[in-house]
Amino acid sequence: MPGGKIVFYTGILDIANTEAMVAAIMGHEVAHALANHGGQRMSAQLLQKGIGMLGQQVLKKEPQSKQQQILKAYGVATTVGAILPFSRAHESEADKIGLTLMVLAGYPPEAAVRLWERMKAASAGKAPPELLSTHPSNATRIQNLKRWIPQIKLEVEKIKVASR
Ligand SMILES: [Zn+2]
Repeated sequence: MPGGKIVFYTGILDIANTEAMVAAIMGHEVAHALANHGGQRMSAQLLQKGIGMLGQQVLKKEPQSKQQQILKAYGVATTVGAILPFSRAHESEADKIGLTLMVLAGYPPEAAVRLWERMKAASAGKAPPELLSTHPSNATRIQNLKRWIPQIKLEVEKIKVASR
């Protein structure tokens, strides 16, 4: 948020029910801020809006009903094709940086895996298919986190040794 504050709702505490899991969420959100995802995402959305407005000008000669059909198809196509994969990449990046931050802060990274397993259980049957979501599917996320943990533990150990 503007001013460098990170806010989350207490509702998440039902899922993140340990300090280490809260640290996993904090790490993820701090990572978004550090990587400046907010700014990048804003410009991607502005770009999409700009292309959309251009499209509307071009469509002016078409009958109204056809215009709407085309714009509707366009909206879906640009969201799925441009905005979503972009933010999915951001999500994965924030997961990886966040994991590093929580390990640096002394929390066990396995808590991030537990967090997403609990999230997956809580959203069973409710999550949209990965293609239509701004977030990687929980299963993909858990898989990635598990894959990154050994590497990140090693990296953080190196940093700690170097700073002794
Ligand atoms: Zn995120």
